[in-house]
Amino acid sequence: MSIKILTRNIGVPNLTNIEVYESLGGYRGLQKALREHSPAEITDMVKKSGLRGRGGAGFPTGMKWGFVPKNTGKPVYLCVNGDESEPGTFKDRLIIEKDPHQLIEGTIISAYALGCRQAFIFLRGEFFHGARVVGKALEEACAKGYLGRNILGSGFDLEIILHRGAGAYICGEETALLESIEGKRGHPRLKPPFPAVIGLYQCPTIINNVETLANIPHIVNNGAEWFAAIGSERNTGTRLFGVSGHVEKPGVYEFPMGITLRELIYDHCGGIKNGRGLKAIVPGGSSVPVLTADQVDVRLDFDSVAKAGSMLGSAGVIVMDETTCMVKALRRITRFYAEESCGQCTQCREGTEWLYQILTRLENGEGRAGELETMLDICTGLKGRTICPLSDACAMPVESYIRRFYDEFTAHIQERRCVVA
Ligand code: SF4
Repeated sequence: MSIKILTRNIGVPNLTNIEVYESLGGYRGLQKALREHSPAEITDMVKKSGLRGRGGAGFPTGMKWGFVPKNTGKPVYLCVNGDESEPGTFKDRLIIEKDPHQLIEGTIISAYALGCRQAFIFLRGEFFHGARVVGKALEEACAKGYLGRNILGSGFDLEIILHRGAGAYICGEETALLESIEGKRGHPRLKPPFPAVIGLYQCPTIINNVETLANIPHIVNNGAEWFAAIGSERNTGTRLFGVSGHVEKPGVYEFPMGITLRELIYDHCGGIKNGRGLKAIVPGGSSVPVLTADQVDVRLDFDSVAKAGSMLGSAGVIVMDETTCMVKALRRITRFYAEESCGQCTQCREGTEWLYQILTRLENGEGRAGELETMLDICTGLKGRTICPLSDACAMPVESYIRRFYDEFTAHIQERRCVVA
């Protein structure tokens, strides 16, 4: 089934201009929300739609909103996570740069549902162009009365603040993101307490991903049942897949959840580059376990990918052909996580660097017998024992690459060279 929700207008000239967005039905969802629904009804609608977070974990959005305690006397904040620093992931950037009002409309409706008077859009530091685009779009929305005091005469007030990160991957972790907005170093916080209870400035806070919130106007416009009918049970709606690597036509593709990897790669991305064979696929950004070529028929939804031993994560699909050296690919990934570790936890600070050093030796033909087992041991020490999941994000690919391509890693050690190229 071909259905476009979030990308239906991508390619329309001047889409970032508010009048163009309005002419395509933009901000009708906001008008409908404010005029016809109470905040509780919007939350209920989002719950019924089955929308799950598109940032990585896939947590049900409406349920998350429901965790905000009532009547605490404290303000409630909404933070939009537009950090998108996971390697292989570039789908939020499309919305940010090409259709910013879709995100802003979704943010305003969500803030209304949550009872927020102040929301933040946190953008990755390197998104210079995106920050300009969103900044201008926010000004346009203010000028049109979609933001500010008494929005569309409803009595609802909202200010959205654009906050730019400084380029640290860890600020995509929700509590590090809050620290960054507060003007501190982006160090993750221990959980619990969870941000829904104690978040920004010690107040209840909801953090949602860009793609997640961009779906909200469509759910309000078309109804929860309409959204729930797309995709499959527990995996509703469409997903933006950022496909990169060895395919003929890399890019961002929108399909209902449940499309298979084979359909995505061969029917829509033009197949493997230069007619080569498929070797491996990362289905959800560099931090998730790798899949092998014989798993190409896995359905791309949260539950099916989990059943196959990986995660849909950010839906950043990295395709590797038969000429790829898995040792080299893994070394590159561990280097990233070693560099981006914030250093608070010993296991993460030391373990990610240790993995990178071993893999560097392996790639240089200096690997030693027993080092694969050492790496697997290090991974055991990294998983689930630190303040935030960055250490898991390094351990999961290491374990899966070694286990699924064990012979190739062993050959690297025995033959002291790459056996692929
Ligand atoms: Fe920092 Fe790593 Fe600990 Fe996360 S796991 S808090 S990135 S040291």
